[in-house]
Amino acid sequence: MNKSLFLKIFAGFVIVIIAMAAVTLLLSYRTIRTHHLETQRESLRFLAMGLKPVFSAALASRDAARLDSLAKDLGLQTNSRITIIDPEGTVVADSWRSPAEMENHKTRPEIMRALRGEVGTSLRYSSTLEEALLYVAIPVEDRDEVGGVLRVSLSLKSIDDALGGLRDDIIVIGSVIALLSLIGALLFTRNFSRPIDRLIAASRRVASGDFDARVLLRGGGELKELAGSFNYMTDQVKRLFGELSEKSEELNGVVGTIRDGLLVLDKDGRIVLSNPGFMSIAGEEAVDGKFYWEVIQVPDLADLVRIVTAQRANSVREVHFNGRDYLCSGDFLSSREGVVLLIHDITEMKNVEKVKKDFIVNLSHELRTPLTAIKGFLETLQDEVTVDGQHYLGILRRHTDRLVNIVEDLLVLSELEDSGTELQVGEVDLRRLMEDVIHVFEHRVREKGLELTLKARDGRLIIHGDQFKLEQVFINLIDNAVKYTERGGVTVGITESDQSVVIVVEDSGVGIPEGHLSRIFERFYVVDKSRAKTVGGTGLGLAIVKHIVLLHGGTVEVDSQPGRGTRFIVGLPI
Ligand code: ADP
Repeated sequence: MNKSLFLKIFAGFVIVIIAMAAVTLLLSYRTIRTHHLETQRESLRFLAMGLKPVFSAALASRDAARLDSLAKDLGLQTNSRITIIDPEGTVVADSWRSPAEMENHKTRPEIMRALRGEVGTSLRYSSTLEEALLYVAIPVEDRDEVGGVLRVSLSLKSIDDALGGLRDDIIVIGSVIALLSLIGALLFTRNFSRPIDRLIAASRRVASGDFDARVLLRGGGELKELAGSFNYMTDQVKRLFGELSEKSEELNGVVGTIRDGLLVLDKDGRIVLSNPGFMSIAGEEAVDGKFYWEVIQVPDLADLVRIVTAQRANSVREVHFNGRDYLCSGDFLSSREGVVLLIHDITEMKNVEKVKKDFIVNLSHELRTPLTAIKGFLETLQDEVTVDGQHYLGILRRHTDRLVNIVEDLLVLSELEDSGTELQVGEVDLRRLMEDVIHVFEHRVREKGLELTLKARDGRLIIHGDQFKLEQVFINLIDNAVKYTERGGVTVGITESDQSVVIVVEDSGVGIPEGHLSRIFERFYVVDKSRAKTVGGTGLGLAIVKHIVLLHGGTVEVDSQPGRGTRFIVGLPI
């Protein structure tokens, strides 16, 4: 049993019962005593009234000796003290003392009132007898005047002695009642604290993980209701816990089947969850609880975790580890301020990509020489072929040009995609660069009857970048704009802010349907294949643009309305 709860309640009862018993005893004794004194006072008054005629005659005769013996006789008979005092306060007779020994009584309160013709009463200490007495004094008239005072008194000690028995009875009865109340309190406290003890014991079992703990109480009342609620709550907790365990098992099963490495880190970078996929990547088991950088010591991964934590957003990065390539995707886990990492092995993919790239580079190199030769011979042939043959020669030249373009674009792209590519960074005057590029197109623009306008502020507009590669970007963009525009014109606008320069190449051409916009920066992606053939497109231009802009740390976006025109927006950091 929970001793402290039982003791607390029971001690409270004990204090209240004892205090109530004490107060009740005290008050009832005092009330009875007051009532008893009142009764005694009345009895003394009746006694005095009864004795008054006897003393009235003796007082009139002024026979002191007779008065005194009368007082002593009657005092003995009535078991009370009788005193006669003359109007001057001199004691004439007293049943318990010799009047000669007694001092003047004129100033005694009961005597003063009696001399005024009233009934005087007093409860006070008698200096003559050296004990407390209850006095009642009445005037004894002598021919219409107060001829003296008859005082009857009773010792308080005899009153208290008489009340003593009563007080003992009250104490006994009070004690019995208090004892019975204490027994009642003991039983009540036990009955009250026992179910609470059971509830406490059951909740301790639940807290320690035993969800089968139940509390069964007999009877009714709030405690039974509480026990019912507790049992219901425990049922719910058990059910939820079961569901949770099932879900967690299911999740563990799913996580276990993922072939990629999965890692959940807490906010300090400690591994709180990992799957077998990660363990095989790390080549280590029992990684949970370790810091991720103890298991995989790669600065790129640390960078990724730092970026995801700082930006609280997804970020992806390629990581090279133990001779293999991985694509790591990091997501912020807001519930625990941690990071979830998914690590996908892309070694095979990279190898295939490399083979593909090498093949393209080799092929392009191999094709370039014969193509240059073919182009040269076609030019030589031009003077020797008949007028009819010129038509076929024209077709041959167009296709050869296209092949040369493709080969050159492929070589540029391969060079850009090579991770070792470095920019030849220097100061670039964008306005100047744009004027030069526009100059290249002036002839073609005029031929097509279009307008090509540059909108930029006067003066130099300097950024840091690779002059040659940036020229390639804008040549590609303006070339496309001119290629895919039949009427209207092309506008190149340059605006600058503190951090960046924004170049917008806008045309009023055929536009690009919405569904193609997200893919036009892919290699070999062309919107309209037949048109591409006629205009000589390779589908590589925008891929080159995107690569160069990204190498400069910039952005490129497209926005188009089919039939109305297209807008390419290039942002470059200053
Ligand atoms: P291409 O050499 O074929 O122009 P790009 O990579 O430069 O290849 O462009 C990809 C495709 O995007 C093009 O085939 C074309 O359909 C579309 N495109 C690019 N620029 C424009 C433009 N200014 N207006 C309309 N379509 C465009």
